[in-house]
Amino acid sequence: MVITIDGPAGSGKSTVARHIARRLNLQYVDTGASYRAAAWLVISYKVDLANESALIELIRSMQYVPGPLMEDMTQRIWVNGTEVTAAIRTPAVSDMTSRLATNAAIRSILVEVQRNLASSGGNGAVLEGRDTGTVVCPNADLKVFLEASPVERARRRANEMAETGSQCDERVVLEQLQNRDNRDSTRSASPLTKAPDAHVVDTDGKAIDVVVNEVLSKLPLNAMAPA
Ligand code: C5P
Repeated sequence: MVITIDGPAGSGKSTVARHIARRLNLQYVDTGASYRAAAWLVISYKVDLANESALIELIRSMQYVPGPLMEDMTQRIWVNGTEVTAAIRTPAVSDMTSRLATNAAIRSILVEVQRNLASSGGNGAVLEGRDTGTVVCPNADLKVFLEASPVERARRRANEMAETGSQCDERVVLEQLQNRDNRDSTRSASPLTKAPDAHVVDTDGKAIDVVVNEVLSKLPLNAMAPA
């Protein structure tokens, strides 16, 4: 079974996707983390964004290794043998990520990586991102598009950053998030869009369990796996 969960930053994709992966024993694929890993690598190697062939060569050679979902629902990530779990979540990496994500050649390299990860789970997978229902797995059994108001999304992102010890101003987070949304939605290569067959779920003011149950209630009966 394959479930895709797309939506803008802070819409609750990661939390919901991780809970569903755990409940249904599915492989969890955080496609955003693979774009972040590529951005981290580009920053680390100081590759010029204008040098497309160097970018592609570097990203093609990337060894991207996500670990399993841990008890506390976190996932550790390694790139070329270095753990980058925290390093890929900084504002500088977020900004570089959405710039790289506009490049169609880079996207096609990472889509291959994401599809391989999805097919490595014996039971199926839950993927989260911006184009998982439209491009990565267009034949998914269930497609979900999560939405939430910009203010709620900025509040969640600011809380996540505070939990990891980063100082942040909610207004600045909101501005960065809207810049990133704007870039993600207006790029020509696989922009953030709802698949026509996606179920839209608004997560504003809803507890995680409520959203997870709402998503699971959309599963086609013949795709349901034991919890
Ligand atoms: O989901 P997350 O916020 O970690 O994604 C970081 C960035 O990666 C997004 O802002 C977007 O630019 C890019 N991305 C993408 N396609 C995906 C997942 C993420 O373009 N499927």
